[in-house]
Amino acid sequence: KKKIAVMTSGGDSPGMNAVVRAVVRMAIHMGCDAFAVYEGYEGLVCGGDYIKRMEWHEVRGWLSEGGTLIGTARCMAFYERPGRLTAAKNMVLHGIDALIICGGDGSLTGADRFRSEWPSLLDELVSKGELSAHQVAPFKNLNIVGIVGSIDNDLSGTDATVGCYSALSRICEMVDYIEATASSHSRAFVIEVMGRHCGWLALLAGVATGADFVFIPERPQDHDWRADMSVVVKRHRKMGKRKTIVIVAEGARDKNGDKISPEEIKDLLADKGEGGLGLDTRITTLGHVQRGGTAVAYDRMLGTLQGVEAVKAVLEATPETETCFIAINENKIVRKPLMKAVQETKDVAAAVDAKDFERAMSLRDAEFAD
Ligand code: ADP
Repeated sequence: KKKIAVMTSGGDSPGMNAVVRAVVRMAIHMGCDAFAVYEGYEGLVCGGDYIKRMEWHEVRGWLSEGGTLIGTARCMAFYERPGRLTAAKNMVLHGIDALIICGGDGSLTGADRFRSEWPSLLDELVSKGELSAHQVAPFKNLNIVGIVGSIDNDLSGTDATVGCYSALSRICEMVDYIEATASSHSRAFVIEVMGRHCGWLALLAGVATGADFVFIPERPQDHDWRADMSVVVKRHRKMGKRKTIVIVAEGARDKNGDKISPEEIKDLLADKGEGGLGLDTRITTLGHVQRGGTAVAYDRMLGTLQGVEAVKAVLEATPETETCFIAINENKIVRKPLMKAVQETKDVAAAVDAKDFERAMSLRDAEFAD
């Protein structure tokens, strides 16, 4: 009987509970034993009660719960081989031979590393006398499948990550609240949203709320952003708009690669000097409300369908199967090579950090053309 464990790792995102519920129930439905690893890789390294057998009824009602009920953590020990060695030992001791991990690119990188080291970790455990050859014999193959849980929609190769539409909806809701007061007082608001390397949330929030101006990390304005923004905001005000909404991603940059802060944007909007906009301007940093709350229907659906597919992928895997993650492309749930997607994601982040925006944009374009 196959023993399949599910884990959530890295930053939490709405819809992770839908993933856990789906994996647990699909595993049981397929005649397997289901396990949950609590607190991400920390639970795998600690073992014991952190690895818990899950029954059908234990995930009842989880679709409408926010965050992740099995906990998540950042785990320093898992970055080092001794930590992964202990994790491997705990897997064997619990009889687990398949792991479904829902997390961001960091968590999925860790997962791939774990699988690539798998037989050698077992050999080391045997040579150190921590486990017997007899104990490890049934565990020669480890199946790992990833599901992307991230509010930023920052993983290459999938159209949406579990949680991104909940975060986007939350942002829109908050902007709607802010707009009421902005309109009443004829004010400007600079709204900072999450996204260090990926501007998806800021960009789509801009589209969905009809914001005046948006700043994202990957594609700075071609010209001086101050001049560009002033022209646009002035035009909108001339047309009779009583509110000004500027959305800025955490990692927004100017064309020289320098960070654009909400304060700088505010100063420009509030400038009372000649040619300045002179608007009564406030800054709102949305922060963790973007992660919070329950998942929207889309994320519940995505988490459920991907959880089901992940169990199927585990059951159909052979030792030769490349480690995959479950994506959604053009509304179809598909399996894709994990490391290619993680590498492409890292390449975009590296291009943004290196201020090579042309490359960042061409990588994004390639992603959409893919
Ligand atoms: P996210 O999954 O949201 O990107 P992190 O980057 O913090 O979040 O990764 C979550 C956890 O995954 C880390 O705390 C660590 O335990 C594990 N991890 C991340 N990157 C690696 C890596 N290169 N090698 C091993 N483990 C990793």
